[in-house]
Amino acid sequence: MSQLILKPGRERSVLRRHPWIFDGAVERIVGRAKSGDTVEIASADGRVLGKGAFSPESRIRTRVWSFDPAETIDDAFFKRRIAQALARRAALPDLAGRQALRLVHAESDGLPGVICDRYGDTLVLALSSAGAEKWRDAIAAALIKATGCARVYERSDADLRTLEGLLPRCGWLHGDEPVLPLVIEESGVRMEVDIVAGHKTGFYLDQRDNRQLLKQLACGRRVLNCFCYTGGFSLQALSGGAVSVLSIDSSGPALTSAANNLALNPELDPGLAQWRETDVFSELRALAAAGEKYDLIVLDPPKFAPSPAHAERAARAYKDINLYGFRLLCPGGILMTYSCSGGIGIELFQKIVAGAAQDAHVEARIIRRLSAASDHPVLLDFPEGEYLKGLVCQVG
Ligand code: SAH
Repeated sequence: MSQLILKPGRERSVLRRHPWIFDGAVERIVGRAKSGDTVEIASADGRVLGKGAFSPESRIRTRVWSFDPAETIDDAFFKRRIAQALARRAALPDLAGRQALRLVHAESDGLPGVICDRYGDTLVLALSSAGAEKWRDAIAAALIKATGCARVYERSDADLRTLEGLLPRCGWLHGDEPVLPLVIEESGVRMEVDIVAGHKTGFYLDQRDNRQLLKQLACGRRVLNCFCYTGGFSLQALSGGAVSVLSIDSSGPALTSAANNLALNPELDPGLAQWRETDVFSELRALAAAGEKYDLIVLDPPKFAPSPAHAERAARAYKDINLYGFRLLCPGGILMTYSCSGGIGIELFQKIVAGAAQDAHVEARIIRRLSAASDHPVLLDFPEGEYLKGLVCQVG
């Protein structure tokens, strides 16, 4: 096995169990490691600290599989890690009986670059690192064995793969092709999930608890849902008794899927729902100019800042939508606002939202702080795993 030797002092982050080793920390590689190969990680003074997956093209030159130098990285390793990830979820009552959930959350489950979401008896696997790519078969086999699921579809098409020198790869890895789209149930609402062409693995599972909270808040309110995708928040609002729901997204296919979702739930009154295919930034201005008002507004935009380098531009975009969000609220209204940008921390996000409230001349209070659901855990050693943050603010 090749050895990765760290520069003097650069073992510190490995000793703190951070799973990423950047190119700048590497003194040299002894041996001929290729993309995805397992390398032994050693400090400058020769202490072996663990094993990781080598990625010659990525700035993250190695992602640590194990901080135990004695642990072998083989099929059994992936079986163990996957079994642990499943056991953690099985121990959480809020996940009990769920058929749509994230089973493996990458670094935070000790499996860098490996995402696995379950939708009924179909698993969707997204591999984004050279190491994950190398062990695809072992990972898929372990997941099938541990879950008993009938099918595995691979959705390895995240932009991240380019940084690892990997091409996109999508297709069935195991089982017969099912009737698509799949249909799941969430908080009493049926939703189709397009695992082939939808975002991420097809559905934003991370917002599950937050959609449920919205359902509780929606009764009797006029709701505006911005960046609605396939209508997750919109349908929960209707299910919770909203008197009207206007949903906005710029994606035609997402809105078609949203319409299908509404039709899948005949108990919801389609007369209360309006869908608008347009740009949120300009539509918020148009609604404000027309004097429209809402009691509850959801802002769940895409990732404006994938990394801290994009933070400044992203901050302006967040400020803009939140400013209009506050302007469009009635006194007593509620803003549910999110950022899924890894490059924007919660402190900065809160500052942006506070600035937006000030500029909108409203007094607002945080009544809840939100994050991803418990099947998207954040390993304390890996704060980068915390991407989704939300604030629920009450105005007046
Ligand atoms: N809230 C959704 C997930 C939102 S994902 C859920 O719970 O399922 C972000 C959505 O924003 C995507 O559907 C994307 O099509 C949409 N989007 C991105 N930029 C946009 C823009 N400028 N205006 C309107 N929609 C936009």
